[in-house]
Amino acid sequence: MIKESKKFGIAIHGGAGTIVRELLTPEREQAYLAALEQALNTSYTLLEKGGSAMDAVEKAVRSLEDSPLFNAGRGSVFTADGTHEMDASIMDGATRQAGAAAGVTGVRNPIMLARHIMEHSSHIILAGQGAERFAKQQGLQFEAEEYFFVKQRYDQWQQVKGSDTTALDHSEDRKFGTVGAVALDVHGNMAAATSTGGMTNKQFGRVGDSPIIGAGTWADNNTCAISCTGDGEYFIRAVAAYDVACLMEYKGLSLEAACDEVVMNKLRTAGGEGGLIGIDKEGSIVLCFNTLGMYRGMRDSSGQQKTAIFK
Ligand code: ASP
Repeated sequence: MIKESKKFGIAIHGGAGTIVRELLTPEREQAYLAALEQALNTSYTLLEKGGSAMDAVEKAVRSLEDSPLFNAGRGSVFTADGTHEMDASIMDGATRQAGAAAGVTGVRNPIMLARHIMEHSSHIILAGQGAERFAKQQGLQFEAEEYFFVKQRYDQWQQVKGSDTTALDHSEDRKFGTVGAVALDVHGNMAAATSTGGMTNKQFGRVGDSPIIGAGTWADNNTCAISCTGDGEYFIRAVAAYDVACLMEYKGLSLEAACDEVVMNKLRTAGGEGGLIGIDKEGSIVLCFNTLGMYRGMRDSSGQQKTAIFK
């Protein structure tokens, strides 16, 4: 028998970083908030109708991938070779099944590919050309190079092109623009999804934390669902998303205390900039970051709703 719980909710992020208010025009700020609200509201409506947490997180991430504002899907940053290599993952807290795609080019919605890998292959992570072949077999939509050309991203790349610098930041607002979503549905199931273009000027084949289950994404009905954004190399070594779940499971910490420990203490001490969003089985939502800002939003069945960028 499925235990029906009334509480449900969703949280999303569009990246964290040194987002400087003065560098963000009011128009751009409004555009970011509107894109976040749109992603939040469509997934909230789905959850309200009894839809699954998996469908809600996939839908929210797809909506952010389709926006040129975020570093995922269409708005993905440029690699050192001037291409786009995207990473994404999704995890179902009810079954602890997961799927991920790493270093894929041309796929319109890498989060859909991650879900197809989870549901229609016997593997968890597919990378590069193999993942693209699988995406074609599954009939997923591909886009031409022009679709992924966003002037602002191109200009960011021009500033570091030819150097060894992997730009962690936006030149305009110095942020990480990865997108993610976590949700709890009325059936008591949780899910998490994360999608990214990675880091500007990244070297061939570089894979960040976003497609690594446990590092950038985690969901487990016993504890929480987590999606991370930030300096991927640090999040991988911190096993950040799973560490939050572990602190809850083994130390009995609340979601808030666990997120705080990982983001504000462990990652910050190590030099890892970024943040994460989390939801637990009670529907508590945490939006936590050690940077100046994080594009973020949440909405839950108790009527709480917000979108924000700065602290
Ligand atoms: N975590 C991502 C990566 O390292 C970057 C980001 O969050 O924007 O690939």
